[in-house]
Amino acid sequence: MKEFRTEREKHNFFNRLSEEQKMQAFRDILDETEHAVFLGGAGVSTESGIPDFRSKNGLYRKTGKKYRKYNPEYLLSSDCLRRDTKLFFEYYRENLDARAVEPNAAHYALASLEKEGRLEGIITQNIDGLHQKAGSRNVQEIHGTTLRNYCVFCRKEYDADFIFDSPDPVPRCTECGEMVRPDVTLYGEVLPSPAYDNALDLVNRADCLIIGGTSLEVGSAAQLAHKFHGKYLIIINKGRTRLTGKADLVFRDSIGKVLGAL
Ligand SMILES: [Zn+2]
Repeated sequence: MKEFRTEREKHNFFNRLSEEQKMQAFRDILDETEHAVFLGGAGVSTESGIPDFRSKNGLYRKTGKKYRKYNPEYLLSSDCLRRDTKLFFEYYRENLDARAVEPNAAHYALASLEKEGRLEGIITQNIDGLHQKAGSRNVQEIHGTTLRNYCVFCRKEYDADFIFDSPDPVPRCTECGEMVRPDVTLYGEVLPSPAYDNALDLVNRADCLIIGGTSLEVGSAAQLAHKFHGKYLIIINKGRTRLTGKADLVFRDSIGKVLGAL
């Protein structure tokens, strides 16, 4: 990648590139940088058929009749878990079981980049475990994961089968009988600190941040993205994002397709 004397020079250079030249610039950036990090949102998993939460075709629009009287965010909130525990697990089991879902081209491309030493780590808002399933190792799940569950009293850990296949309306700890809950950040809860702290470290160290599948409107991914002060910002998202104007390279295309072409 050529050296730029000013931000303006850099901006003008990237602005004039054709789609093909942009791909080459992306490859050059990954070769040049030491700490490239990927920050991904729901759009990474939608290509595997997992609905996101808020969009027009999202999970909340698809919920069955019996849930319609509830505010959709309530069904995945800490209030619901506490007050309407059976309802919470009923909804959770029907809608968040990703055990049979397979990773897509984006997940596999990111896993390859990490293996080749061109990507340091992944920060994801998704809770489906698909990055690890595709072979990625350094994955910071800032909203937790449906694959891990724990007893609220003794903290004994349980796998996804335990919650999704449990015959009891509310899954109970085999040691102490208290509720077993998913290690997922519900609405109304704070983020799991180890994953968020690790994510923050990754962003602070990054000299290249690749953002994919999130509009960066709200939430933790947006916060992290704004903390990035490294050299290159790359965005892959079909729609515009809050940081599109600040990015060096913008691909308004499928994440799997763009990453797969690296
Ligand atoms: Zn227990």
